[in-house]
This record gives sequence, structure tokens and C-alpha cells, in this order.
Amino acid sequence: MAYDLIVIGTGPGGYVCAIRAAQLGLKTAVVEKEKTFGGTCLNIGCIPSKALLHASELFEEAGHSFAKMGIGVPGPKLDLKEMLAFKDRGVDGNVKGVDFLFKKNKIDAFHGTARIAAPGKVEVKANDGQTQVLETKSIVIATGSDVARLKGIEIDEKRIVSSTGALSLPEVPKRLLVIGAGVIGLELGSVWRRLGSQVTVVEFMDGVLPGMDGEVRRQAQRLFEKQGMVFKLASKVTAVDTSGKTLKATVEPAKGGAAETIEADVVLVSVGRVPYTDGLGLKELGVKLDERGRIAVDHYYASSVPGIWAIGDVITGPMLAHKAEDEGIAVAEILVGQAGHVNYDAVPNVVYTYPEIAVVGKSEEELKAAGVAYNVGKFPFTANGRAKVNMTTEGFVKILADAKTDRVLGVHLIGADAGNMIAEAVLAMEFGASAEDIARTCHAHPTLPEAVKEAAMAVAKRAIHM
Ligand SMILES: Cc1cc2nc3c(=O)[nH]c(=O)nc-3n(C[C@H](O)[C@H](O)[C@H](O)COP(=O)(O)OP(=O)(O)OC[C@H]3O[C@@H](n4cnc5c(N)ncnc54)[C@H](O)[C@@H]3O)c2cc1C
Repeated sequence: MAYDLIVIGTGPGGYVCAIRAAQLGLKTAVVEKEKTFGGTCLNIGCIPSKALLHASELFEEAGHSFAKMGIGVPGPKLDLKEMLAFKDRGVDGNVKGVDFLFKKNKIDAFHGTARIAAPGKVEVKANDGQTQVLETKSIVIATGSDVARLKGIEIDEKRIVSSTGALSLPEVPKRLLVIGAGVIGLELGSVWRRLGSQVTVVEFMDGVLPGMDGEVRRQAQRLFEKQGMVFKLASKVTAVDTSGKTLKATVEPAKGGAAETIEADVVLVSVGRVPYTDGLGLKELGVKLDERGRIAVDHYYASSVPGIWAIGDVITGPMLAHKAEDEGIAVAEILVGQAGHVNYDAVPNVVYTYPEIAVVGKSEEELKAAGVAYNVGKFPFTANGRAKVNMTTEGFVKILADAKTDRVLGVHLIGADAGNMIAEAVLAMEFGASAEDIARTCHAHPTLPEAVKEAAMAVAKRAIHM
């Protein structure tokens, strides 16, 4: 049977694209090479990491904060096996949900590795080696990304792990060495620190969370250090000796110089992710890649070969699940002649540590570099009533607004529940709000989002509680 659309990959980009296409009346199929649907995000990314972050945060709270609120419980005992099972149950529920949605939307799902034999022809090789060729009008590639590796440091997913192995360590490592102070390194480093590991993070750049607003990065680093994480910045791991019982990592200054050795029981390599296009047959088809191996697409997600589109981690832009989802919806709408579109100026980015860090729009550094005049409104959680009573006063809200028009250009949050709070800022930016619009919007009391309103008022130097 010929399809209107075949989507290769069922991560958040692929499965959402398939559902939207089916809603719009396209006869749609998906091809997935793994046993379960949902891609990196549901199986080995967002969902399992958030399950462990949630459980480990409660574990830490039970040990440190409950007594301060008058809750007397004996010191919490870790049952790691059960915690990992809790995470797996969460993943299972989510991937089954995708299966259900495919059936509900009458999407045909094929398990196997897809290769594009020609535009309009997708060859699916099942795990048992059987091959079939499916015919289709359009193909969307949503094959996502894979772990970036370091030359000479081999990931065995036991002692030297990627994020995937770090989600399933069978015991808490006494010493965990994290390579890379990006989102994944800090999130998974936080999980194992809370569960008892001594965590050292080696980062090539001179601060954590490269690319984010400088003030947020400095505050985040201070708070993580207070929690016990040790940072070795402007440094690089050049080798890991695995010959003994203990791993020995060679760490050098980024610019070169005398090396030192750091011992660890587990090393987590979290230096980023790379687009995944293996086995798709792109070279033979003449599908153009960009300088970083991503599929080059135009404004409409069309590749250089007619009939082949691409979305998500495999194309340019932030490697985030919600960005992939929105592109999935946009490309499905474009395929039926609608005006599918993603506003890349309003894509939030959240780090689910404690405190959480959530940003949308431009940083101060970016605005300075672009020569844009801006005003800053800042409000600390120490001055927010709800944060005070909850004992979650770390962090602040910072709003950057255009000096001439007052239009919000960037919002930077560090604090408890920042990941949920950023939604209001994203919506405001999507609607082209000014700081004054947010400042004049009634916010429920007592809530943490009142700090967003106060930061907006602070843009015009009229915050009330400061
Ligand atoms: C530990 C970790 C935590 C993360 N946490 C977050 C988070 O909290 N929030 C967030 O927004 N993002 C997070 N991410 C990033 C997020 O997972 C990705 O941005 C997102 O999954 C990208 O979606 P995608 O659809 O482009 O690709 P993927 O989710 O990578 O899915 C691609 C799918 O394509 C399949 N595939 C590949 N090649 C073929 C082929 N030839 N044939 C058939 N199938 C194929 C793969 O098996 C896979 O299932 C995290 C990532 C990691 C690793």
C-alpha cells in the first residue's frame, strides 16, 4: 500500500509529526529501529532522567529538609533497585502511551531499520533480517542524535558510561567523574551526588552551562558547589586508564600544561550529542549535510532532495524534545499546504537540577554582542513570600527588555520550579509582550511566579517587595 507520509524515527519529533499528519488526513506510517517507540527522550533521555531527578530530590529532602518542617522520619534508606524500577515503570508507561496514540490515529508502525532506497521508497530491514520496501509520497527523517564520544576514551556503559549507562548504574559509585558541565552532566551528576557519590565535574570552558547567561551560570555554579559538587574548569580529560580497579583520568588545563590524575569509580562522558544519520543512505541519495553532519534543510524543513524532509535533533537548532515536537507539527502542516511554523526566538531551555534553571530568549551577552540597548529587571527569591515559607530562596528572575520598546527579549530564571515558571515568559514572548504587560498581569498570591511579575516591575524600577 502506498502512504502519503512515512516518518523515520519515533522520538518526540517523529511520533508527534506522525500524529499531526494523521489528524490532517494523511495516510501515515512510522519506522522505528528500537523495540519501543518514543526515541531518546522517552527511553533514555528526558523521561528516565527526570524520574531519577525527582526521586533523588525527594530522597535528599527527606534527609535534610523534613525535620525543619516538623516531619520526623528516620534517616531515609536508599533502595536503588526499587528507584531504578520506579524510573523504568515511568518509561514503560510513556512508551506504551505512544503505541496507543499510533493505534488511535490509525498510524501503521513498522519495527526495523529504515533506509531510503529512493525518494518515495523506504526499505525496512526488520531485526530478523527480513526486508520490505514501502512506498510513499513524502518522507520525514526524524532519526535524532547519538552520544558524542571523546577520542581514546571508550564508553563501555559499565565503568565509563554515557548518559544511557548513567541512568542505570547498579550501585552508587563512591567517586563519579563527570566530563562536561552541560545540562546532562549537571542533571545526572546531581542525581548521583544526592544518592551519595562524590562528584567531580571537568569542563573545557571556564564555567558551567556554556552558552547560557553569565550571571545565571555563576550563580548556578556557586549553588552546585555549596551542594558538594567539585568543578575543574578550563580543563580537559585526555585519557582514562581502565587497567586497575580504580579508573585514573588524566586531566590537563584546556590550554595545555601539566597534567594531574583524578581517580574515580565511574566516569560519565557527557560532552554533547551528534546528529544520527547512519544507514539512511543519504550520501547515495545526494541529501546535503551541513558542516556538523546535520541534514541541511530550508525554512520548510525540506532537504536538498525533493520529497525528503527532516526535523528534530538531526537538523540545526537546540537539541530539545519540545523543539523537535513543534517541528514535527510544523512539517506535517506544511505537507498539507498549511503555514506550519516554529518561533525559534521563544524556545525555552530548562536544566532540571536543584534549583532549576530555565531560560527563554536572549542572554545579556547576546544582546551586548548584537548592540541592542536593553533594561534589566531582577528579583531574588529571598524576597518572595512563598519561597521564604517553603525554604526555597535560592536564585532569581531576570527579565531583559528592549530599552526603546520595553518588549521582552529574554527571561532567565534560577530557582525552585523554574521549569514550570518559564511557561508564562514563553507565552509572553510569543505574544510580543512588553515587561509592563507582565508587570500589570495579576499573579496569584502567594506563588513563586509573583517573582516574575516583580522582575517585570523591576524593569521600570518599581518592584514592590524589594
Ligand atoms: C539524558 C538525556 C536527557 C534529556 N533531557 C531532556 C529534557 O529534559 N528536555 C528536553 O527537551 N530534551 C532532553 N533531552 C534531549 C531530547 O531527548 C532530544 O532532543 C529529543 O529526543 C530529540 O527528538 P528527535 O525526535 O529528534 O530524536 P530521538 O528522540 O533521538 O529519536 C530518534 C529515533 O529514531 C530512531 N532511528 C534512528 N535511525 C533510524 C533508522 N534508520 N530507522 C528507524 N529508526 C531510526 C531511533 O531509534 C530513535 O528512536 C535529553 C537527552 C538525553 C540524552
